[in-house]
Amino acid sequence: MIICEPAWGWTVGAVCAMAAPYPTVLTGLALAILGSAGAGAGFALRRAKGRLREEERLRHGAEGELKAYVDMLPIGVVTIGRGGELVQCNRKAPDMLGLTPGQVASINWESPAISIIDASGDGIEPEELPWNRALATARRVSNVVLGVESTETGDWAWISVSAQPRLDSAGEVLDVVCTLEDVTQQKTTEAELTLHHLRDSLTSLPNRALFMERLSRAIIRSDRRKFFSAVLFLDLDRFKVVNDSLSHEAGDKLLIQVANRLRGCLRPEDTVARLGGDEFVVLFEDILSVNDGLTVADRIAQGLTQPFNINSQEVFTTCSMGIAISSSSETLPAELLRDAEVAMYRAKAKGEGSIEIFDPSMNAQALARFQMDSELRRALERNEFVLHYQPVVGLQSRQIEGWEALVRWKHPERGMVPPLDFISLAEETGLIVPLGKWVLEEACRQAGEWSRAYPSAIPRLMNVNISARQFQHRDLIGTVLEALRAADLDPGALKLEITESIMMKDPMASLEAMKTFKSMDIHLVIDDFGTGYSSLSYLKRFPVDTLKVDKSFVDGLGKDPESTAIVSAVISLAKSLGMRVTAEGIEHREQMDHLLQLDCDQGQGYHFSRPLPREAAEELLARDPRW
Ligand code: C2E
Ligand code: MG
Ligand code: MG
Repeated sequence: MIICEPAWGWTVGAVCAMAAPYPTVLTGLALAILGSAGAGAGFALRRAKGRLREEERLRHGAEGELKAYVDMLPIGVVTIGRGGELVQCNRKAPDMLGLTPGQVASINWESPAISIIDASGDGIEPEELPWNRALATARRVSNVVLGVESTETGDWAWISVSAQPRLDSAGEVLDVVCTLEDVTQQKTTEAELTLHHLRDSLTSLPNRALFMERLSRAIIRSDRRKFFSAVLFLDLDRFKVVNDSLSHEAGDKLLIQVANRLRGCLRPEDTVARLGGDEFVVLFEDILSVNDGLTVADRIAQGLTQPFNINSQEVFTTCSMGIAISSSSETLPAELLRDAEVAMYRAKAKGEGSIEIFDPSMNAQALARFQMDSELRRALERNEFVLHYQPVVGLQSRQIEGWEALVRWKHPERGMVPPLDFISLAEETGLIVPLGKWVLEEACRQAGEWSRAYPSAIPRLMNVNISARQFQHRDLIGTVLEALRAADLDPGALKLEITESIMMKDPMASLEAMKTFKSMDIHLVIDDFGTGYSSLSYLKRFPVDTLKVDKSFVDGLGKDPESTAIVSAVISLAKSLGMRVTAEGIEHREQMDHLLQLDCDQGQGYHFSRPLPREAAEELLARDPRW
């Protein structure tokens, strides 16, 4: 690597080469100097010795002048030798490259002292560098914009580079003269012009496109700096509740305030972007370890704990966060974002306010879930779901007083798949909505058919389980009405089972929906009662007909004093609120007797019957047993 200090030999040829893009200034300059050198040569013809000295003096004078001019130029000028090495440069060039003259002396284009990207922010292969292209093709390369960053100071500039090869008489490339022009200002203005395309209009945070661009640059840079880049994916918990119970306008206000809080929790160099809805992402460029990521996540969680003031109302929110860290410059930005999202879903599943770090095994699980989801969708299309029916027995009457429809997946290879293996996934992916609709239609159809085929003095109700997502779905009421109409079933013959946690997720909205069902004469049951966290004050306000005591308490009845006390308390509570009680999971006669003593109305469980396929249930109806 050769670097010429002040007395570098700028030749006229080199000046002409670089003059190409600046014809008026530089060509004029070169010609003026040439002219003065020519005049010196004529003078030397008469005295050989003196002539030689004079020529020498003139040559040096011309070169000195050339150098002085080139040094004064507001652009950088560098000559790159045939081997790609920097041969010489003017005074401006090191400055523009963000290097000291000392660093320039030992420059290596792949050196960690300098990092170069292309105009779109991607890393650039050495052979794509303009001088290398000029060397390889022996042709001029014009106006290639490169981003150049000093990895030491972080100084950053956009430089437009033109490279002009100089050829010898045989047409071989001698070297390449490059001119460097700082276009940072221009590029920034351009970026600002496109800024509104890159910002989220609600929060004015960067949008997905801008985030992805910054992320790709960060990944390249972090590899050079030996830091990690990390993406934190954040999703607000229960944002929907705010949107639905207050208003969309209130939801928007919350998002704006959350965006401001997030900005406040982060350093100016971190990027926080909104991907859409209540999803935000943060990019950290200088993470040293997983712990650094967790520290920031904690800071964010802390920052969101204070209530938000929305239309003079205090709103509390938490968020679920997933973090993914790039391990090398090979990481694709989209992959890193997806990993962070997978981790966020993991955090959501753990419970509100959780933080998860992505680990590759999550991907395997995500893949398995993805496959299962596609299988489930196909199963729905192919009618692979069936309903089994478990009788609900009157503890006084000892007869069938109703049925609970329980879905199963008749898998072509795996056989009968129980609901616990697929309901939560269907719930997560939203498939529960069409699946639940099918269950409602089928259960109502069956109930209608049985009411006609097996008339009875006691009205037999059909219980259908409703999941959270279904309950929140605005079409549920329409779906129920349509199912009843299609089955020609009296609304009073349908009971919807909702768990406590569903109701408590959004008590106000639940109350509204439940009132509507009640006004339609449809019965409502709180399923698995005792396992959630019902507020008793709410319970009083909900138009619920029946509490279903969870099997876990029935199991301990008569054996474990706590369970016995709970069952007895639930029954008293229900009675005092004018509700009926069904006990689930009755497996033994003693449990049934004990429940009867406690004034429990109905029971369900293996003691009476397991859930049965349609034909077996019909046999039972035909027999009309007494237990
Ligand atoms: P669940 O609504 O609490 O249903 C009662 C579960 O307890 C059923 O399990 C039933 O088979 C089981 N069971 C009933 N009696 C006994 C007993 O004596 N001993 C024991 N060990 N178990 C008993 P299954 O059918 O596996 O359903 C599990 C859960 O899946 C249901 O709990 C319900 O939450 C959900 N599920 C089932 N079908 C549907 C559906 O169509 N839609 C929705 N959203 N969820 C459903
Ligand atoms: Mg149930
Ligand atoms: Mg239950």
